[in-house]
Amino acid sequence: MAEALTQTYLSILEQLGEDPQREGLRDTPKRAAKAMQYLTRGYQTSLEEVVNGAIFSSDNDEMVIVKNIELYSLCEHHLLPFIGQAHVAYLPNGKVLGLSKIARIVDLFARRLQIQENLTKQIADCIQEVTGARGVAVSIEAKHLCMMMRGVEKQNSSMSTSVMLGTFRTSEAARNEFLQLIRGN
Ligand SMILES: [Zn+2]
Repeated sequence: MAEALTQTYLSILEQLGEDPQREGLRDTPKRAAKAMQYLTRGYQTSLEEVVNGAIFSSDNDEMVIVKNIELYSLCEHHLLPFIGQAHVAYLPNGKVLGLSKIARIVDLFARRLQIQENLTKQIADCIQEVTGARGVAVSIEAKHLCMMMRGVEKQNSSMSTSVMLGTFRTSEAARNEFLQLIRGN
């Protein structure tokens, strides 16, 4: 795949009217191919690898929340980055997940071609599936370079999405607690 992708980037440079042989660009197709593979490595990673057995019995039934998880993704419409933060909470039901795993699950789905709405839902569904939680809440705020650098060129607009599952959907108190905790930063 790397070789075909390198050739494709070479062709893109030519089609832009560039000279791919000039010094600064000579290794660019190869570097761009490597970078693109890195930015989409979620396709090559399995959930099993990510969780790697880090799921533990616990009688804690209080909300577990991980805030301000850095998020880097690529929009599937323009292949341009969107960058922001994810906040993830769940209400354990006998099982908890190693904390670093939550950030890795965010990455597993962020490092693909995405739209923010689907990304938010995929993270929530995955945490729900892995932990069997009573409820899962995921909120993402992100700035989209496709909006900032092209089109409407709105530099300061960010997009917020959230998905509530289980108790977070049915209980206003749980939902409010989550929203308060993420706003408190
Ligand atoms: Zn876009």
